[in-house]
Amino acid sequence: MNLSMKILRGLTPFLIAGILAGCGEPAVKTEEEAGSITLVIHGGAGTIKKEEMTEERERAYREKLTEALLAGFEILETGGTSIDAVEATILIMEDSPLFNAGKGSVFTHQGKNEMDAAIMNGADLQAGAVTSVTTIKNPIRAARAVMEQTKHVLLAGRGAELFAAEHGLEFAPPDYFFTQRRWDALLKAKEKDATPEPERPADWRSFGTVGAVALDSHGNLAAATSTGGLTNKLHGRVGDTPIVGAGTYANNKTCAVSGTGQGEFFMRNLVAYDVSAFMEHGGLPLKEAADKVVHEKLIELGGEGGIIALDRQGNFAMPFNTLGMYRGYIQADGEARTFIYPDE
Ligand code: ASP
Repeated sequence: MNLSMKILRGLTPFLIAGILAGCGEPAVKTEEEAGSITLVIHGGAGTIKKEEMTEERERAYREKLTEALLAGFEILETGGTSIDAVEATILIMEDSPLFNAGKGSVFTHQGKNEMDAAIMNGADLQAGAVTSVTTIKNPIRAARAVMEQTKHVLLAGRGAELFAAEHGLEFAPPDYFFTQRRWDALLKAKEKDATPEPERPADWRSFGTVGAVALDSHGNLAAATSTGGLTNKLHGRVGDTPIVGAGTYANNKTCAVSGTGQGEFFMRNLVAYDVSAFMEHGGLPLKEAADKVVHEKLIELGGEGGIIALDRQGNFAMPFNTLGMYRGYIQADGEARTFIYPDE
């Protein structure tokens, strides 16, 4: 056998593996190759100005983000699943009036709270979501129940609430969701809309949507997002959060993503799935894919916001094109790190 034939024979298994894996598609890692536990969260992107932030307020945000990270970490550290971790993390933020999700949700034009939430399991692509719910205390619990106890992906409005009642979920009266800050934001947005040139069709700047992506010790990814949507939105408006592929997506082959920002742009661009598609079909590493979507594609469309994205090796990215994004992460060392501004 001459030298070139020997080289070819030696290369054959690799060539076959390359063809099977598909051109440019990153090979799916085995559980042994998966990275160690990681949890990344956001508490909304928007016009967060350092000069307008009081020390006390900043501390409150950082403490709540830390509490949320530790709640998820406790589950991951003891061998729990990424789905349990993202749900536990979101619950802490839904129960806090600081965030635009659950308690503290923004108001519609008609002065009501209409909430959306979604959860997705990267291991089997199962997903569940609810939209336009008004009295479910923790919409993320309802989203998870839809995923696990129905054949459907998304339940809306009254149907979602009836389903939640049948499954014993907790309800809260409308005044539970009321916060003066969000009410004042509605009045301000209405005033702005009444002026001849409103900056945006809806004042989305009442940031505070919450999201979490996690990698567990079994090598599985999950994503979850919860929101009250946009201040002054029309009754019945559905945003990107409960739309699988727009505001929320998880796939063990690529990544888990949760978004925050002007939902209409995230829906038109299928932002969360786009990150995954750049990885799966374009072979881009996670960070490049996430940056491309947020800093190039979203900006081309005129969309503002940010995402958190995590892959099975524990690589993650938290890009945003706004003045700030509440965010944080925790990995195997158990140290919760939180950030608000771009220069941190
Ligand atoms: N994306 C959310 C929505 O459009 C809002 C936000 O993230 O602030 O409903």
